[in-house]
Amino acid sequence: MSDSLTLYYNHHACAQHVVKRAVAHGNTSVEVEWDVSEPWRSVPLHIKRTTHYKNNRNGKVEMRGESGSPVCKLVACFFFLCSMKKKTMATWTCEEKVDALYGRFGKSAIPKIAIEEHIILPSQLKHVHWPSPVLKQRQADLLEYETKRPSVMRQANIKISILSAFSDGVQALPPCLLSKSSAKKWNDELYAIAKTNPRFKCFAALPMCDARDAADEMRRCCETMGFCGALINGRDTSSENEESYSNRYVDPAYDELWKTAVELDLPIYIHPRMADSTPFFDETPNCAMLRGSPWGFHSSTARLVMALIFNGVCDRHPKIKFILGHMGEIIVWMAWRIDHRYKMEGRKSNVLATLKRNFYATVSGWMDNTAFTHVQSIMGSERIMYASDYPMEDTVEHAKWFDALPIDDADKRLIAYENAMRLFKIDFPKT
Ligand SMILES: [Zn+2]
Repeated sequence: MSDSLTLYYNHHACAQHVVKRAVAHGNTSVEVEWDVSEPWRSVPLHIKRTTHYKNNRNGKVEMRGESGSPVCKLVACFFFLCSMKKKTMATWTCEEKVDALYGRFGKSAIPKIAIEEHIILPSQLKHVHWPSPVLKQRQADLLEYETKRPSVMRQANIKISILSAFSDGVQALPPCLLSKSSAKKWNDELYAIAKTNPRFKCFAALPMCDARDAADEMRRCCETMGFCGALINGRDTSSENEESYSNRYVDPAYDELWKTAVELDLPIYIHPRMADSTPFFDETPNCAMLRGSPWGFHSSTARLVMALIFNGVCDRHPKIKFILGHMGEIIVWMAWRIDHRYKMEGRKSNVLATLKRNFYATVSGWMDNTAFTHVQSIMGSERIMYASDYPMEDTVEHAKWFDALPIDDADKRLIAYENAMRLFKIDFPKT
């Protein structure tokens, strides 16, 4: 007896109906129609094809029709893993099915701590605006933390995800009073979510419209709830007094926060948000999109970082630790030239030295060996950490890119988890 089935590598569908029907057929011959073009983006199978297989009594799979093809091997592996587990597929969880299928192509071998992994907290959703259809598509994944997120972590071999409130977070939540109350609420919700899974850690959202409140909130989260530091989403526009003013934290009042971070000995992650509206973005044909993730995220974060450096934050607090995502947010590329041109004008500039003393860069959202090599040559492996930018990127694909980087194993371990363990004072969970 044979039947026709379609199997998707897709967590939401999870192939429940397919698996049930496969089980119902037991050791009979089954015809599987594979539609692998969309879900298997990271696997070179962009075809729709039919495979005949027979699952015989000793647990091996006999192929007919397309013996030796990658699809046949995938089917064989799936059923082999089922028999290894000594339970029927019907009892498998969605995560086990997904993991088993992924295992055919090799689960990521390198354990990782991923530190730019985003979530929308329950009370945050009503404040989130979706400037693009792609972002809107990510809504379900941003809200979810019980099934797909842990499954993706397993596939990418991410032992710990440090979760943070999705950008713009509380940085764009006027008036300041709302920013302050939301930061507390969101951090409490983040803590409750982290308690559901030992593989979750947290970065605190900080109400940067008020330096003292930001300092107090960082201390509360790190001292009483074990947060790994804080994450701020670029400049702050929560102040009710200066609507058009983008606060870049250069006021000496922020020394209170920088001092607190040094005392806690924990870092502050400076994450991007949309760049300021300007005539270039708003009026130049075909350039509006550059205000966001292709360019403006990074150029505006670089400007914020330069504002901090040139206003002496790192000189007054030489032990402060900042983290930059996305291969160092442009500034790593520009540091030498900034110093060079400032010095030509007789001005002091120590951007390059400050980056190497006070900053870490992550590989979030990049899968480019050339870019990585450059950042590694500037920052050194001791100052680079793993991050995927889930769910804005394909985390499994990103993990595969990282695993395949042609660098020493010792460097890879530093970047994948050792630097993070040291910086955040954490270890892999036992379970
Ligand atoms: Zn991000």
